Amino acid sequence: MDCIFCKIASGTIPAKKAYEDDLCLAFHDLNPQAPTHLLVVPRQHLISLAHATPQHAALLGHLLQVTAQLAGALGLSKGFRAVLNSGADGGQTVDHLHVHLLGGRAMHWPPG
Ligand code: 5GP
Ligand code: ZN
Repeated sequence: MDCIFCKIASGTIPAKKAYEDDLCLAFHDLNPQAPTHLLVVPRQHLISLAHATPQHAALLGHLLQVTAQLAGALGLSKGFRAVLNSGADGGQTVDHLHVHLLGGRAMHWPPG
């Protein structure tokens, strides 16, 4: 499958990995938007949050729990932002669901 995050998950494309388990992996974003910018990605190819079904509930919960665990491990005690861009208007550019973990600076609201 011609999916960049599937290729990172299988090891075909290199990435700076920060975490992995049976269900997901986390790696540093190639184009970081904050001092800490990781992507938490399920191993299974799921296009976006809009494509999630009740069968994906446990996986989605796991992704968020891993995101919080990583934020703690990376010392983001002042806070962090977790983002799921979904679809064109959501700003999604890679069609494999991922949670952005951003931290190390104060975030702005509303987002762009
Ligand atoms: P999206 O725009 O879909 O929410 O986020 C996709 C993210 O993937 C972007 O922040 C982009 O910098 C990152 N990205 C795209 N291609 C690669 C890659 O090959 N390696 C890594 N580590 N990040 C990538
Ligand atoms: Zn994929």
